Amino acid sequence: MTRIVYVNGDYLPETEAKVSIFDRGFLFADGVYEVTSILGGKLIDFAGHAKRLQRSLDELAMANPVTEDELLAIHRELVRLNEIDEGLIYLQITRGAADRDFAYPKDATPTIVLFTQSKPGLAENPLARTGMKVISIEDQRWGRRDIKTVQLLYPSMGKMMAKAAGADDAWMVEDGHVTEGTSNNAYIVKGNTIVTRHLGNEILHGITRAAVLRFAREAQMVVEERPFSVAEAKAADEAFITSASAFVMPVVEMDGQPIGAGKPGNVTARLREIYLDEMRKAAV
Ligand code: PMP
Repeated sequence: MTRIVYVNGDYLPETEAKVSIFDRGFLFADGVYEVTSILGGKLIDFAGHAKRLQRSLDELAMANPVTEDELLAIHRELVRLNEIDEGLIYLQITRGAADRDFAYPKDATPTIVLFTQSKPGLAENPLARTGMKVISIEDQRWGRRDIKTVQLLYPSMGKMMAKAAGADDAWMVEDGHVTEGTSNNAYIVKGNTIVTRHLGNEILHGITRAAVLRFAREAQMVVEERPFSVAEAKAADEAFITSASAFVMPVVEMDGQPIGAGKPGNVTARLREIYLDEMRKAAV
């Protein structure tokens, strides 16, 4: 089946979809994006992603070419056309095509593209049973990581460094403290306390993070939002990551050293279960 994608108002086979070479997303990484997961043919936490999208656009003074209702309708139509039961849907918005100039163009029309990825077994990922291995790498990204921009070169480099080291991902470190994973938020657990970096310009404000911390507090777990060091991570009882595509995923090793028992821990397993249960109920 040919994948159908959405480009500036049209639903087209992926081979027919086109974007200008003068698109500022291509020339300047002048674009933002979102990724929403799909379970049982429904969107997980769409409202959270739509809200962060608007925030990213506002931070860059970029126009939103669609309303939230239109965006939801486009997402649903693409899920329907591609018959996605479990998978991901990507949304990319750029400032559009304009003659090359660093200054924002006055009259460019934003480019909007959406595409799906079918991922059967997304919620039954075997890594959730065995846990992930991460390495630590220096965080060399720019200073406004809170905006969900398309500047993903350093995260890509980090994933490649992790692969080369036989790990599943990398946790980025600044001034001795973990900021986040290459495409996810990072957490450690010590006793009944969950520690994760506080919100600020240094990390992306994960939509999954917000939901998981809410569920953790509701389940009487203690949450500390503060920087944690690499040494603290290595001495933790458990560690995990969150993202829209991995949900809550255990981390069992860092830089070749086991974390806790070197197996997925109970707090992580419980949070994964609560997250998936609650989010499936609220999916749209
Ligand atoms: N941090 C970074 C750097 C990311 O790229 C992502 C995922 N896109 C996240 C955190 C997790 O965000 P979310 O839970 O909204 O997927």
